[in-house]
Amino acid sequence: MSTRQRLNALGITPRKSLGQNFLTDPTIARAIVAAAHINPGDLVVEIGPGIGALTQFLVQQAGHVIAIELDQHLIPALQAELGQPANLTVLHADALKVDYDSIRQISGGDGYPPDTPVRVIGNLPYYITSALIRRLLESELKPALITLTVQMEVAQRMIAKPDEMSLLAVSVQFYGHPKLVMRITPSAFYPQPDVDSAVVTIAPHAQPLYPSPNSIFALARAGFSQRRKQLRNTLAGGLAITHQEAEEILLASRINPARRAETLAVDEWITLAAHYDAQKRRAKATRKPTGKRLKTSAAPDAK
Ligand code: SAM
Repeated sequence: MSTRQRLNALGITPRKSLGQNFLTDPTIARAIVAAAHINPGDLVVEIGPGIGALTQFLVQQAGHVIAIELDQHLIPALQAELGQPANLTVLHADALKVDYDSIRQISGGDGYPPDTPVRVIGNLPYYITSALIRRLLESELKPALITLTVQMEVAQRMIAKPDEMSLLAVSVQFYGHPKLVMRITPSAFYPQPDVDSAVVTIAPHAQPLYPSPNSIFALARAGFSQRRKQLRNTLAGGLAITHQEAEEILLASRINPARRAETLAVDEWITLAAHYDAQKRRAKATRKPTGKRLKTSAAPDAK
């Protein structure tokens, strides 16, 4: 039976609002799962299992699979398609709201020891991609590898190099090493999307590249808020600092203030963040205390 016929039989009409383009080609599903390099003991977190195009192979290879699906109508359909494999836990939840720090505890039993390798896999609606990646990479889950099927254009933005950087590229490359694995044409899905898709893996860095990601993202958000403008202007406007302060941070980082955000590599954002944080510390140290005057016993009471 084709995916379309199976969906019909299950009484499911794909919902565009949830990015429901179901994978129809099992050869491609196998190739995506192969890209995730799953080992038998691994815990796999699948985002958006749909009716199980990937899940059917994941449960064969992983120790346990936690599949997070937002559409409650798909959950009985997924169970009807796959039966109830003992190593599958289906969570009805929004993947953007799940507490990934504690997800090991809901693996269908006693949970997994903290050193169990975790792999995340998902064929994602494009509109949750960047928020989800940041949530996953900032969590305590510490996945060994994230394997995502996304729009081709999103994949290309993730792996972009200086001159074509974006906020997404900075976010992904700050946390990990993205790699484009393969292109998928629209004919592999039902309904067919308008554009090509791609499989990307992100291997998270073993250690954080900078201890305070908030500074990196404050700078990058400011920088990319008006991508055609020079950094001296975008940083001043976006960070509510003076143009002189913005220039000082840029020059201390050996970055020409006339450059644009899209030209900066991740290590330059890190240098910038270090100087930005140092400037904030200096400003704090020199700020006059503004607290209430304390009444001391030496001060005579006003009568
Ligand atoms: N993995 C299936 C496949 O390859 O055929 C389905 C992929 S479909 C592109 C995206 C899936 O993500 C759908 O099942 C959709 O309901 C689900 N989804 C959409 N937004 C979600 C969210 N915020 N949290 C969890 N699942 C979501």
